Amino acid sequence: MHTLDHKLARLVFDECLRQLSLDEVPLKTGGDRERLAEKLAGLITPSGNDPEAVLSVFLRDIAPAIIACDTPRFMAFVSCVPSKTSVLIDVLVSCFALHGISWLEAAGPVAAENQALRALADAAGLPASAGGCFVSGGSSGNLSALLVARDTGLSRRGGHRARPKVAVTADTHSSVGKALHVLGMAPLLVPTPDHRMTARALRDTLARERHCEDVVAVVATAGTTNAGLIDDLAGIADVARQQGLWMHVDAAYGGAGIFAPSVRELFTGIEQADSLVVDPHKWLFSPFDCAALLYRDPPAAQAVHTQQASYLDAIHDDADGLWNPSDYAYHLTRRARGLPLWFGLAVHGTDGYRDGIENTLTMARYAADRISATEGLTLVCEPELSVVLFRRDDWGLEDYERWSAKLLEDQIAFVLPTSWQGEPVARLCFVHPETTKQLVDEVLATIDPAVRSGHDAQVYEHAH
Ligand SMILES: *Cc1c(COP(=O)(O)O)cnc(C)c1O
Repeated sequence: MHTLDHKLARLVFDECLRQLSLDEVPLKTGGDRERLAEKLAGLITPSGNDPEAVLSVFLRDIAPAIIACDTPRFMAFVSCVPSKTSVLIDVLVSCFALHGISWLEAAGPVAAENQALRALADAAGLPASAGGCFVSGGSSGNLSALLVARDTGLSRRGGHRARPKVAVTADTHSSVGKALHVLGMAPLLVPTPDHRMTARALRDTLARERHCEDVVAVVATAGTTNAGLIDDLAGIADVARQQGLWMHVDAAYGGAGIFAPSVRELFTGIEQADSLVVDPHKWLFSPFDCAALLYRDPPAAQAVHTQQASYLDAIHDDADGLWNPSDYAYHLTRRARGLPLWFGLAVHGTDGYRDGIENTLTMARYAADRISATEGLTLVCEPELSVVLFRRDDWGLEDYERWSAKLLEDQIAFVLPTSWQGEPVARLCFVHPETTKQLVDEVLATIDPAVRSGHDAQVYEHAH
């Protein structure tokens, strides 16, 4: 088990190379429950199996039973499109069994991860003192940051409230609601006429709140998941400062935009965050699973998150201020998951990231322009980042669902409808830097009322 099977190793590395060499990863259509159950049945036994037989189950039946995220044709959700460079280093992270728990055990990986965090902090404009760690995703980043917000906020405001509150909007990501639930906090909903939290709306909501001292934090979103809109970060920062609130910026999806000059201004105010989450596995071309969590004042986070136990004393012998990523989030053991981003940043430079992100922004604007110019399609709102919401004027939810299913079946794209102000709409989310105008055109042709072609016409045609 711990002796290398060279033949198996060669087969695996050949497969890695074959996969990484594909010009375009096939989209595929997901998996069939019965087929998967049949292929997996009886595979785990006391005596085991021939490794090549199991590898072939993996290659033939498991790995392909997906909808591939690393193709420009994946336009649903927010995809994950790791660069080849970042994937290669991820292989090394596994081969070297690199962890990133403490300075004692993993000084090199931690130093490199911190360099990548520094690059993000610099791009955001956070002070030199800022720092944090990489966690598994925006959800765990939000949870970890809001725990610090809660404990710090309560002591700062002298409160011992049974149920502290956090200001959010209806467009705040679902993981924030979950985090509040876990942390015994309640959301304070700030109304947003146009899906963006503004300073005025926040101030008014706080003024109306009977127990204003219960409110310990505000979550500003820099890139809503549904529409890619950015809250008024600078205005919210002002209110947060005046009222002593912790300002958490959830930039899990949109945060990559700080590298893109064409949208950088929209992020003004992000530099005032007390905590910030950006997911490199979303729009910074890193493999799963990776979210950067940064704090303006890391000792505040350390005070809340450090785990104390006799068996951990050795890693906390940090008289010289050495960095333990385990002290900055709700976790202990962790993979050095920031290394693929570090490697990519070091190789391609921040300019490489800028160019990739700008290209997806260009594609979103191109799609929006095409939609605006097409009779029968309506752009729901101008894209701020790389999400485009639009409607086909004569369609209802079932039409969008049929469209979505047909596009996947035809392997044209994976798109999903969403809802906007209670109405079903089409949504395209671009994060792949190699998305082309031709592909945007190809996808839009399938929903353009003026395009009629062969049997497609019957499928896309709305039958009233
Ligand atoms: C995706 C997303 C999250 C959750 O991040 P995960 O990495 O999926 O856990 C949180 N907030 C926003 C704004 C997101 O887009």
